[in-house]
Amino acid sequence: MIPPAAGPTLRISHRRFLANIDAVRMRIAPSELMLVMKDDAYGHGLEWAVDAARGDVDLFGGYDIPTSLRIAARAPGARVFAWATSAQHEVEEALHAGVELGVGTTAYLRRVIAAAERLGRRARVHLKIDTGLRRNGMRPEEWPEAVAEAAAAQRAGLLDVAGVWSHLAEASDEEDDAAAAEFRRAVAAVRTAGARPAALHLTASAASWWRPELRGSVCRIGAFCYGIRSADGPEIPGVRPIAALTAPVIAADGDGGDAVIGIGALHGLPSTLAGVRIATPAGLRELTRIDELRSSVRGWPGAAPGQEVRLFGPGAHGEPDATALAERIGTVGEEIVTRLTPAVGRVVTAA
Ligand SMILES: *Cc1c(COP(=O)(O)O)cnc(C)c1O
Repeated sequence: MIPPAAGPTLRISHRRFLANIDAVRMRIAPSELMLVMKDDAYGHGLEWAVDAARGDVDLFGGYDIPTSLRIAARAPGARVFAWATSAQHEVEEALHAGVELGVGTTAYLRRVIAAAERLGRRARVHLKIDTGLRRNGMRPEEWPEAVAEAAAAQRAGLLDVAGVWSHLAEASDEEDDAAAAEFRRAVAAVRTAGARPAALHLTASAASWWRPELRGSVCRIGAFCYGIRSADGPEIPGVRPIAALTAPVIAADGDGGDAVIGIGALHGLPSTLAGVRIATPAGLRELTRIDELRSSVRGWPGAAPGQEVRLFGPGAHGEPDATALAERIGTVGEEIVTRLTPAVGRVVTAA
């Protein structure tokens, strides 16, 4: 009854990934793209993505140091930025590999300076000002002292202040404008202290695309390069999802119209997605329930094992995009893709 069908698969288009990167780079020029690759390149798989992008992209964002080291090993000559506050031994590995570090606390600044001193290697740091998000970053009141310490370490040959950065809440234009003003004050203070940071970066996908006046010399962009639009946001011209999630039919009751597909909650498909319409060879059909390893589709009399459904993708078969699924359950498209477990195969195709 149940054939040894292939399992659920994320089918990824190499061509679309490069096309998105191109569209993003054109849009943000002359700002430089930092391609953000955290969470295993947003669930698409890090290694192939670095291989694909490295001819076009010279600056990568790895979030944590282990991820950044993987990128650096695969893209010799590229610059890699790691902004997770990390332990001393990781900082030392980062300095060895030439990974640039985001520094959002005075304590971490001192740790990086100490590591540079021990290794006899200059650290390249990007100082982070907290412009209101209050997640990570130095508050304006601690900024002058941190900048003075960084400038002194630069004069001592221990580090270069290569950048100043922050992260926007993107909750409202007014808040983002206030954050940008705070950011400009922070940059001015760094210049007054004698440093000349070349990389100024504040914006991620949405603000980089829609708020050109907030772009710095660098834009940190993940989502749009993978074709994931913002929740409740519009389609982005020239940007398409690069991946489609497929699952095989593993059982069907003939004329009854009910089919069972081989994907479920344990593959990372939120069970709250029940009710969504997915693409089948017969057209859009309702996903009625999501169990641990399988799910049910209703109203599909011709279903037969070996056929394949598409749960999300670029829409060529009418399937929703990942963000449309996310909107149903109050989350973001990134979450839908990054939750998929390693049990979901990743297949990268040229087309
Ligand atoms: C994830 C992340 C980004 C990229 O955001 P997107 O919306 O995916 O483009 C940029 N900056 C920081 C600090 C991030 O954590």
